[in-house]
Amino acid sequence: MTISGVGVSPGIGQGPVYVLTVSVPEPPEGATYEGEADQEKARAHAALEQVAGELEARGVRAGGEAKDVLAAQALMARDPGLAIGVDALIETGTAAPRAVYESFGKYRDLLVAAGGYMGQRVVDVEDVRDRTIAVLTGHPVPGVPTTAAEPYVLVARDLAPADTVLLTRDVVAAFVTEQGGPTSHTAILARAMGLPAVVAARGATALRPGVRVLVDGGLGTVTVEPSEQQVADARRLSAARARALDAATGPGRTADGHPVPLLANIGGPADVQAAVDSGAEGVGLYRTEFLFLDRASPPTREQQRDAYRAVLEAFPQGKVVVRTLDAGADKPLAFLPATGREPNPALGLRGLRMFRAFPEVMTDQLQALADAGAGMSDRLQVMAPMVSTVDEATWFVHECTVKGLGSVGVMIEVPAAALRSKDLAATVGFLSIGTNDLAQYAFAADRQVGALSALQDPWHPALLDLIAAAVGDHGVPCGVCGEAAADPALACVLVGLGAATLSMSPAALPAVRAGLAAHSLAQCRRAAAMARGQVTAAGARNAARAALPGLADLGL
Ligand code: PEP
Ligand code: MG
Repeated sequence: MTISGVGVSPGIGQGPVYVLTVSVPEPPEGATYEGEADQEKARAHAALEQVAGELEARGVRAGGEAKDVLAAQALMARDPGLAIGVDALIETGTAAPRAVYESFGKYRDLLVAAGGYMGQRVVDVEDVRDRTIAVLTGHPVPGVPTTAAEPYVLVARDLAPADTVLLTRDVVAAFVTEQGGPTSHTAILARAMGLPAVVAARGATALRPGVRVLVDGGLGTVTVEPSEQQVADARRLSAARARALDAATGPGRTADGHPVPLLANIGGPADVQAAVDSGAEGVGLYRTEFLFLDRASPPTREQQRDAYRAVLEAFPQGKVVVRTLDAGADKPLAFLPATGREPNPALGLRGLRMFRAFPEVMTDQLQALADAGAGMSDRLQVMAPMVSTVDEATWFVHECTVKGLGSVGVMIEVPAAALRSKDLAATVGFLSIGTNDLAQYAFAADRQVGALSALQDPWHPALLDLIAAAVGDHGVPCGVCGEAAADPALACVLVGLGAATLSMSPAALPAVRAGLAAHSLAQCRRAAAMARGQVTAAGARNAARAALPGLADLGL
């Protein structure tokens, strides 16, 4: 049996499974306390401070990247906003453990709704919460064995940094989690430790403790009770893949030299280093809404300007595509009141529609962008999310032009926009396809509903047809910035369909670069035609891969 997930740290690891079960019980709803409110508050504050101190101390012992990660977690425990929330609940009679649980809950829900990079911070918040509740209730904090006769494969729903920082490679062979993504701390720390890791491996925690597994952190697979042959094959392929990824450097291009700039999707200045390290040639999607999350009011114009400028400065040779605020639906913002009151938020006031409904927020962001671009305007491109019609695009271009922003584009995330991209292209300077939302709207399948994830498969020929229509030959460059671009095979297909640039999470760049460099433009075009000729997503994937033989040679 093989469980598939997402490989986030390459390499092969094998060993017996150790399943980490986190079990600090939820404090009962409505729990009250005896005694004075001030005493109960003091108890809560002391527990938060104890946890912050322990996390910091652990970080200092671990050193390196782990130190910063745990320091950031300690900051969460010391967040003044959180303490205010806890105090307010205690004032109303709620016992400290429940008050901590509920206050962290609000923060957690915001991150879950934000998804992406922010969504992957959820486990950190839950960890601080559970540690604090454990201190308050005297419940033992579950831990991970730090010695072992043979290195084990650590399997968990998700791993908090504090669980993993004190582990070493002679104790752990690999990490496997059911949740998390490429930017989760499991992924970051696994890469820093040079340990293979697979995240989003559904069903992994049901593995029998002690059963032997083979983890391929490049392919994202967990093979249960592998044969010796399977282990040997996996090691050989993994080594080939590592060599190929190391060898593929420089700007993105096909084997015959057709340039395809490879860009990074980022959420803010904190992501820039990872983008630069993986050789991103620029930023294809700067999701600015992350600057606006978890706040009672929007960031000031100056704060925004600094955050945009920091990213522009990091790419002196490349372009930075900044997306204006994409609030609403899966990215609700506390201070935009329309949020959360709609029967179908994904079909409601979101993206450009929301931006338009709050002119003062919009004006500030566009002005901050213009300020940030001063002296670097050739690098700055601005685009709008969730555009459906030419009227919307025309309005957006006008608003940007008034602020002196020269290079303006729109995202293609709505089928109507894909079908009439020719009209949009006549209005804007560039197009960028957001395959995540385009799939959501093409298949009428909410991207937040996990049970519908099969309908989000970007390989589906219907989605490929829409992408082909969107790319067209309309005289303006059209890139792809949805997660589809992160799959090396699909990336080749997108280039075959005419995508001018590909933008993805930084971790995906090396494999996409290597996959592209192994095939000519003609091969990419043929793979695209083969995929579109199929009737199912699986059929399209298989047909494209058959037309891209270099991927298997690279172990991708
Ligand atoms: C998309 O929809 O594909 C996209 C890139 O935007 P986001 O994932 O931020 O909605
Ligand atoms: Mg989108």
